[in-house]
Amino acid sequence: MKIRARIPLLFSGVALAACSLVSTPAFAWGAQGHRLVARIAETRLDPAAAAEVQRLLATEPGATLASIAPWADQLRAGDPDLGKRSAGWHYINMAEDGCTYDPPKHCRDGDCVVEALKTQSARLADRSLSDAERLQALKFVVHLAGDLHQPMHAGYGHDKGGNTYQLQFNERGTNLHSLWDSGMFYALQLDDEHYLQRLQALPAPAGVGAPQLQRDATRWAEQSCAIATRPGIYPSNRKVGDAYASTWRPVAEAQLRLAGERLAALLNELLD
Ligand SMILES: [Zn+2]
Repeated sequence: MKIRARIPLLFSGVALAACSLVSTPAFAWGAQGHRLVARIAETRLDPAAAAEVQRLLATEPGATLASIAPWADQLRAGDPDLGKRSAGWHYINMAEDGCTYDPPKHCRDGDCVVEALKTQSARLADRSLSDAERLQALKFVVHLAGDLHQPMHAGYGHDKGGNTYQLQFNERGTNLHSLWDSGMFYALQLDDEHYLQRLQALPAPAGVGAPQLQRDATRWAEQSCAIATRPGIYPSNRKVGDAYASTWRPVAEAQLRLAGERLAALLNELLD
C-alpha cells in the first residue's frame, strides 16, 4: 500500500497523519474537484479572458485550465521550496471566531487562502510580469478559488479543518476533511465528463457578479466557514454512509458550481 505523507484534497494543503486507506482514490478525486471548478469556469469566460488564458496555457505543452487546477497540491513533490512557502495558502481557520475574518489573527503575513488569492490575482493581472510568472499565478488562482469554496478549508483550526476528525465512510477509514474533498464525490464513481454535466444541471447560483476581491474573497471565506459550522456537518456517530452523503453532497456540489462561476467572473475581471 502506498502511504502518502499528505492527503491531497479537493481542495487541500493541510498535512495529516498518513492513516487513510483510500489515499490513492482520494488523490485522483481530490484533483477531480479542482478540475471540475476549472471546467465550469472555462465555459463562462468572455472572449478576451479566454484568449489570454489560452495564450498563457500555450506556453506549457499540453496544459489546460483543468490540468493545471490541481497543480498547487502537487508542489511538495514538484517544487518543495514553493510548496513549503505556499502551504498556508490553501485554507483559513476562523470557525472558532464565529466565521468573522480578522486578518491579523487569521492571516498573519498574508499566509491564508483569502490573501493568497488576492495576491496571486494581482500577479495574474500584472502585464509587466513575464508569461511564466503570470502562468504560475493563473495556476494558483484557479486552485485557490476552488479551495476557498471547500467548507473544510475555512473551518476550525483545532482539528485542522476536519483532518483530525476520524470517521468511517461506508466502512472505510477516512476523515471529515477528506470526505468533503473527495470521498462523497468518489462514492458516485462518475468521470469528469459526467460529473460536469451533473454540476451544470444544478440551478444557477444567484448573485455572481464581477468580484471586488478585497471584499468578496472575505465573503466567500465567511460563507464557506458558515457551512463548516452548520449543525450536523460533524456527525456525532463516527460511522457514516449514504445518509450523510445524500444530505451533504448537494451542498458540496453547489459549492463546486459556485466556485466555477465565481472563478470565471474573477478571470473575466482580471484578464479583460
Ligand atoms: Zn489546495
